Amino acid sequence: MDKGTIFYSEFDTPYGMPPFEQITNDDFRPAFDKGIEQQTKEIDAIVNNPEAPTFENTIVALDNSGAILTRVSRVFGGLKGAENNDTIQAIAEEMSPILSEHSDNISLNSALFERINTLYKESANHGLNTEQYRLLEKYYKDFVRSGIMLDDEQKDRLREINKDLSALSLNFGNNLLKETNNYTLVIDKEEDLAGLSQGLKDAAAITAKAHDMDGKWIFTLHKPSWLPFLQYADNRDLREKLYKAMYTRGDNDNEFDNKKNINKIVNLRIEKANMLGFATHADFVMEERMAKTPENVYKLLNEVWDYALPQAKKEATELQAIADKDGADFKLQSWDWFYYTEKLREEKYALNEAELKPYFKMENVRAGVFATANKLYGLNFTKLEKVPVYHPEVEAYEVTDADGSHVAIFYSDYFPRAGKNAGAWMSSFRGQQVLDGENIRPIIYNVGNFTSPTQDTPSLLTLDEVETLFHEFGHALHGMLSNVNYSGLAGTSVSRDFVELPSQILEHWAFHPDVIKLYAKHYETGEVIPDELIEKINRAANFNMGFNTTEIVAAALLDMNYHTLTQKQDLDVRKFEINAMEKIGLIDEIIPRYRSTYFSHIFSGGYSAGYYAYLWAEVLDADAFQAFEEKGVFDKETAKLFRDNILSKGNSDDPMTLYRKFRGADPDPKYLLKNRGFID
Ligand SMILES: [Zn+2]
Repeated sequence: MDKGTIFYSEFDTPYGMPPFEQITNDDFRPAFDKGIEQQTKEIDAIVNNPEAPTFENTIVALDNSGAILTRVSRVFGGLKGAENNDTIQAIAEEMSPILSEHSDNISLNSALFERINTLYKESANHGLNTEQYRLLEKYYKDFVRSGIMLDDEQKDRLREINKDLSALSLNFGNNLLKETNNYTLVIDKEEDLAGLSQGLKDAAAITAKAHDMDGKWIFTLHKPSWLPFLQYADNRDLREKLYKAMYTRGDNDNEFDNKKNINKIVNLRIEKANMLGFATHADFVMEERMAKTPENVYKLLNEVWDYALPQAKKEATELQAIADKDGADFKLQSWDWFYYTEKLREEKYALNEAELKPYFKMENVRAGVFATANKLYGLNFTKLEKVPVYHPEVEAYEVTDADGSHVAIFYSDYFPRAGKNAGAWMSSFRGQQVLDGENIRPIIYNVGNFTSPTQDTPSLLTLDEVETLFHEFGHALHGMLSNVNYSGLAGTSVSRDFVELPSQILEHWAFHPDVIKLYAKHYETGEVIPDELIEKINRAANFNMGFNTTEIVAAALLDMNYHTLTQKQDLDVRKFEINAMEKIGLIDEIIPRYRSTYFSHIFSGGYSAGYYAYLWAEVLDADAFQAFEEKGVFDKETAKLFRDNILSKGNSDDPMTLYRKFRGADPDPKYLLKNRGFID
């Protein structure tokens, strides 16, 4: 078969799953080229259609255009995130300006916009239903926001900006990957491992082996490695060394420095926003968000900050006290926080992660999230054997509905690897839509970087990892249960501050007493987690919440501060960040959840002026879960309302309208504060 042709038509496989065993890196470039060529022809056909514009011949035709490009982009994007290598990186860098130019060729196509504009102006005459009008409006706004109203000179400049921005954000991500993977903390004396569990030592020994350093131990900047080291290693100097390596990524004045990238990105975003008639990048972004304005975002963040900061200070005092008792003759630093937090957790709640972990084998937790989806929505999950996957650690499931009908394919890929980006995410190899009367079902995946199995133990998750697994699965449900007509409105293609509702709400089930017993079973004995431990977990649920909230709000405010700048300027990134943190009074013992130089959400992902969305959505998820609390966490009727109005609806209606249909009222922000234990 010629290179690339595998992508030219629907995959001839069960459920349309990508035939990974047949796809090689050589297929991508030709398939991208073919995809661009195909979509260009399709757009020309829409523009040159002699008939007057109709919803079908213009909007639907546009929505369905570029099938090859979509197919190859989704597979390539999946591998770029989870199974990256130098070849993939090179292709991504090569394609970035080409794809950016192609998308500009569409969004700056005046003749195409002419047809959309005509339809939009005459929309009342076309008898469109809510979903159809929503799709029309989406394309109209996309074009306006992409600069279609600008004059030719401005359009040229905008193309340049877009091309630069996409290259810069790619470079930001690559630098971060390099900085994360290039660092190792090599330990050759066993005494330096004091405080760590055998499981952590074993994992570090395996990592050392992989680096040809048999007999030593290696810790890395992947979270399952650095975090437990910070939590348990008695050697303070080494904790400092590892934490500093983590939080100076991209800020080492070397070839992988991200400060200059940030400077350019922020300034280009200002220029672009101004050109499109907005005072700041944040204003530009908010136009399409539930939050609507930067002021509304600051209002929420500042309100939460006012509860969180005093709580964090209280926690710092408690930690200092426990350190003093321990004989410490120093003021607590950021690399001490995690260590003394664990000591305090043990003292206050007699809770330690080592005691809990045996109950949270990854396979059991995954079975637990499946059981939750079953009890709520009647979904069933059947493991598919011998289907092609892109890495042996990936597992595939067929998801069926209560009546046995096919719903989706779900892949899980949960362990860190060198070629995988940090963090956890959900995405898809195929989206949902109705095409020629057929309901095309989605192919969804979750990727994570959870604790790997060792020779002696299976993967045993921390509570944090359990919560993340539930979170990402919530996004997966949003994708899998999508039931709209048009691809442009399907699944998670909703406003950024709404998209975290389905994910964050699922976290509420993870440790609920009625749920945890379904899945938390000791990996050796099969014993169900004892009530006493469940009680401890839930009593400690808001432990360290001052820290947790301040680090998130600090990062969200940092993001907003960059993106509410009105003037282009030469930014001193370090100084900017220090000033921003001083202004809100962040204490020295805590650093923002993400420092600028590794804040990939906002500089290489799609979350610029959007990190606040997690808290915004928490207003919704805390309020929405209240509906379940009132009627029972597995209440079928409430679950049906949530599925029918939120999970299946994608972006087919205004998010607040959808929310009110589910809840019968607006969300009440007090449940967020309650959820975090700031009010009773
Ligand atoms: Zn999320």
